[in-house]
Amino acid sequence: MSESLLSWGRWPRRPQRAIALDWLPDHLPTLGPSKLLPRGQGRSYGDSCLNSRGLLLTTGALDRVIHFDRETGVLRAEAGLTFDDLLRLCLPAGWFPPVTPGTRFLSLGGAVANDVHGKNHHGAGTIGHHVRALELLRSDGSRQLLTPADTSGLFRATIGGLGLTGLITWVELQLVPTRGPWFESHTVRFSTLAECFEIGPELQARHGYTAAWIDSLAPAGQSGRGLYICGDPSDSSEPAAWREPRLRIPLDCPEWLLNPLSLKLFNTLYYRQPLKQGRVHAWPFLYPLDVLADWNRIYGHRGFQQWQCVVPSADAPALCAELLSRIRAHRQGSFLALLKTFGSMDPAGLLSFARPGVTLALDFPMLGERTARMLQELNALVREAGGALYPAKDAQMSAEDFRSGYPRVEEFEGFRDPLLESDFWRRVRGGGEA
Ligand SMILES: Cc1cc2nc3c(=O)[nH]c(=O)nc-3n(C[C@H](O)[C@H](O)[C@H](O)COP(=O)(O)OP(=O)(O)OC[C@H]3O[C@@H](n4cnc5c(N)ncnc54)[C@H](O)[C@@H]3O)c2cc1C
Repeated sequence: MSESLLSWGRWPRRPQRAIALDWLPDHLPTLGPSKLLPRGQGRSYGDSCLNSRGLLLTTGALDRVIHFDRETGVLRAEAGLTFDDLLRLCLPAGWFPPVTPGTRFLSLGGAVANDVHGKNHHGAGTIGHHVRALELLRSDGSRQLLTPADTSGLFRATIGGLGLTGLITWVELQLVPTRGPWFESHTVRFSTLAECFEIGPELQARHGYTAAWIDSLAPAGQSGRGLYICGDPSDSSEPAAWREPRLRIPLDCPEWLLNPLSLKLFNTLYYRQPLKQGRVHAWPFLYPLDVLADWNRIYGHRGFQQWQCVVPSADAPALCAELLSRIRAHRQGSFLALLKTFGSMDPAGLLSFARPGVTLALDFPMLGERTARMLQELNALVREAGGALYPAKDAQMSAEDFRSGYPRVEEFEGFRDPLLESDFWRRVRGGGEA
């Protein structure tokens, strides 16, 4: 089975068939009754970028820049262009993506289809808030030029539309000006989750980019201790003298490597590290995991699941404490647990995940039934609180979880292209998984 067509969590492992799109097609390719799914860089963790019963349309070669205005920062590019390539072009010209997730190895199309957010959500919203226009190719052969002024509803359905409203052929983005590739970073240690919620509002008011790393395996009494990582684009226009280390995990690590003891040790050392203050390059600040290529192989052949929820702010302190306590009870802590408060702007898309509230994300090694049982327990808490789970990270939420977190799904169905489907969609909308 081709490893290159797994999702980032490398679970579920299902054979995929794909057609590579080398040029913008006039029509979506068809292969009998097979359902299609556009695919970007496969940086989604679960099954939203898989289509085991049909065909993937891979967009890696659709990476041409169509237009870049260096005066206004308006960029139009084919949807397969990665943020990495976009940054190589726009950063030297003094422009930066308005929103970027925690990796730069994703495509523009994938970013729009999941309406991704970054550490600056509280000020900048999601990528969908900055899309000026896009083109959508539907299976009926129509090409739709869509802008935020679109009154049909198709633009809002396509932002965060999980690749199901058509193939996004190109995207036009408004970039933001920047002086250079540097950030001024400021990290604050906190010793309990309550303290994290206490200091959060002031740090968010002071800094454009914030996220809290939580030690999900801390000893009782210090549960939820962690580091608040904050930063702002620097005024320094020094040329980048920084070289990114090129490290790679060459093979699947043995599964015993990540056990409760090693995770606990990692978390303790990470928590106690000397605090970073001052100028830092944008890459380690925004994309710390990108330094280690194929880091997902650390979890071994069985893969892992990322679980990310958003819950209403008023309930968040108690609910996050309860979520962490359940995770500890299951002895399944994570070395990657991040908490972020989203801003108050309305979601850009009908199915956008990011909304006012607090989001918590954790990685879990895939341990079969044990992991499934714990995640169902966490899902139920989120559902009862009126929260939602993030499809970009998900391989296990139930149809009920999805309906409850995305109440506009029936409206969305009216915009879905009938030829497009994913494993995720079949799972949460009925029709089986693969
Ligand atoms: C290390 C890491 C950190 C991350 N951090 C964040 C974060 O901070 N915030 C966040 O929001 N996400 C984050 N993510 C998730 C990631 O940003 C999303 O999953 C993103 O959608 C991946 O883009 P992709 O190009 O790999 O698309 P894929 O994963 O290949 O596909 C994602 C979806 O986009 C659709 N799609 C792709 N291309 C097109 C197209 N041309 N037309 C129509 N639909 C299309 C697919 O059908 C699928 O539904 C992170 C992922 C990783 C690996």
